[in-house]
Amino acid sequence: SAPTLTRDEILERRRKHYGPNLALFFPEDPLHVTSAVGCRLYTSDSREEADSYLDCINNVSHVGHCHPQVTAAIAGQLARVNTNSRYLSQEHVQYAEALTATFPAPLETLYLLSSGSEANELALRVARTLRCDGAPRTAPLHVAVLDHAYHGHTNAAMELSPYKFYGPGGAGRAQHVHVLPCPDTYRGTGLGGEAAARAAVAEAAAAGATIGAFFAESVISCGGQVMFPDGYLAGVYRVMREQGALCVADEVQCGFGRVGDAFWAFQLQGVVPDIVTIGKPMGNGYPVSGAVMSRALAGAFAAAGGEFFATHGGSNAAVAAGAATLRVLREEGLQARAAAVGAHVAAGMRALQAAYPTLVGDVRGRGLMLGMELGPWGSVIKFKPPMCFGEREADRMLRALGCELAALAADHEQLQALHDASRAAVAQLTRAREAWD
Ligand code: PMP
Repeated sequence: SAPTLTRDEILERRRKHYGPNLALFFPEDPLHVTSAVGCRLYTSDSREEADSYLDCINNVSHVGHCHPQVTAAIAGQLARVNTNSRYLSQEHVQYAEALTATFPAPLETLYLLSSGSEANELALRVARTLRCDGAPRTAPLHVAVLDHAYHGHTNAAMELSPYKFYGPGGAGRAQHVHVLPCPDTYRGTGLGGEAAARAAVAEAAAAGATIGAFFAESVISCGGQVMFPDGYLAGVYRVMREQGALCVADEVQCGFGRVGDAFWAFQLQGVVPDIVTIGKPMGNGYPVSGAVMSRALAGAFAAAGGEFFATHGGSNAAVAAGAATLRVLREEGLQARAAAVGAHVAAGMRALQAAYPTLVGDVRGRGLMLGMELGPWGSVIKFKPPMCFGEREADRMLRALGCELAALAADHEQLQALHDASRAAVAQLTRAREAWD
């Protein structure tokens, strides 16, 4: 039914009943989205497709907003039974078989949860109990992460997230966390994984500790859609495993075929993680996440760490959502589509870079996980749309991007203001970090 409140009334009531740190997109002109189909968002005043917004960032509605097959699967399951993983369910095991078949050996064991943060919490819990060889961990857990990383909003996951702990309101780096520089392929710094890992190991050793887990996204999204240089993760993993550390690949944003050339982005690096954490797109918007590991690691975890249960993790409806999303992904050939459409968008972005070389510094990424870095001050336009995004949508997006770049290039004052603002932001961030460390 049509909304009865105006946009301003919703805003006012939202301010009254939700915390002020609940962020809005476009706070100066927030969108009131009332329906969505595929990669189009309709607002309360959209009349037809031409008035719709093209969704270029939602990597949760993976196979498209409100996909009819996913919606029907969830609704049907909710109408039949929706209980938890303590009961037997055929769909529960069939889903684990279908999902783990997408992973390389020996990653065949699945734990289901409801959010990316919880999946990373579980990986952390495994690392707290075990070394990568399955032997029990006796020393306190130290963890290595990449600069700018985000791994979730729970207390422990926030401690693994420089994006948060060095960011506004952050608490600084916890003593058990060691930060590797984010490799910067654009400026050519921090490109060697092995050297970065050895420095983190030395920092831990100076505190009398060893590193027990290494967490990294397989494409660094919060850091600005950064792809690892060839061999980077292999180098880090080698050093970390010498320490007995578990290597965790956070595929919460970049997994499920988004990078096009591989189903899981870690495969682009030719490594096999000890644990892979997955979430966001997994149920196309229905909350479901997971941690995937080897049978041996799960067995040792069970022996050392006791029972695992999560009320909503692996509920019948979550499994229905996950299974339908995986099925649609395959039936509609969306991974191959991501490769083709992503290449088309990247070529279009590179043409814009050639046309505006002083505005566009770098175009990077793979498949439908792309980034365009503007100027030297670290502002990256991220592109990670629903996987049904096609060439027609790409051309509309590229035309709009071209218009904005043309306007910016023509407006020297605005350009200068943007440069000043981002220079000030970078300086502020640098000062805040120096104060923490
Ligand atoms: N890991 C990564 C890489 C993420 O991007 C996010 C969410 N933005 C999370 C973990 C946390 O997921 P959730 O918000 O579902 O807890």
